[in-house]
Amino acid sequence: MMMSKCDHCQNRIIASPKVLTDGSRLCFKCFLRIPNSIIPFAKVNWNYHDYANWIEYEENHKNDASLFKSTFMYGDLSIDEEHMLYKVAGREVFPIRMISQYELFYKDVEIQNVMFKKKAFGRSFVIIDSLLPKCRFEVKLSDNASADVYMENGTYMHGYPAKVLHLKRILDTCFVKMEEERRAKEAEYRKKYQQKSQQKQEYNKKQERSQKKERPVNSTSDDVNKALNLFMLSSLDGIDEQKLRHIRNGLIKAFHSDNGELDSTQSQRINEAYEILKGALHA
Ligand SMILES: [Zn+2]
Repeated sequence: MMMSKCDHCQNRIIASPKVLTDGSRLCFKCFLRIPNSIIPFAKVNWNYHDYANWIEYEENHKNDASLFKSTFMYGDLSIDEEHMLYKVAGREVFPIRMISQYELFYKDVEIQNVMFKKKAFGRSFVIIDSLLPKCRFEVKLSDNASADVYMENGTYMHGYPAKVLHLKRILDTCFVKMEEERRAKEAEYRKKYQQKSQQKQEYNKKQERSQKKERPVNSTSDDVNKALNLFMLSSLDGIDEQKLRHIRNGLIKAFHSDNGELDSTQSQRINEAYEILKGALHA
């Protein structure tokens, strides 16, 4: 018999393995970590990625079940509005923020006359599409939900009972809250990013400035020679700062163009050479 290893815990599988849609195998113990209410769906829809996502989420949200305090109950669905959690058929607790969409609907609607008024009776459901755990829940809300019937384009239509509408309000509010949270997170991230890039710019400027300052001190003999050439000197022997300044001023005057404007690159070169020679003088 071929030996089989669990793709999650790497242990040997003694009983027959549970195979996911991508062919990955789970031992019985790992398979049982899939929530009971999801097993039928998971068996035909989950690959190892879906499994691993759920296990990671579950490990980080072990407290959800003990936090759960139902604020709204209808049929098989309980909702905890404060912690944004929901429970299907009183079993596992799942996060509302992982619902991608939901739909309310009626099944087997019967329209009856009740005290001169038409009313719809039917079973009401909510279908929840969840990203985590990956699942589609069909949750029964009521076996005998009733709603007023109204005419539209010659056909009888029914509204939703107050409790279903209340559920819709809660879920819609959660969706709005989620959207706000997402936007706030995005804004916070953008702010942090801006601060970081500003800090980086300031740091770069500081580096540049300190490099400029250090340059005369760190100038190589090559830099000094070039500066000496520009100042038409063979060495710094017998030269002091006052003499250097005198030569610099003369050079700057000489590089003035005819119309009295100063050639900025030339004057910059002269000043740089002056700083280098001054540095060499005091070295
Ligand atoms: Zn395993």
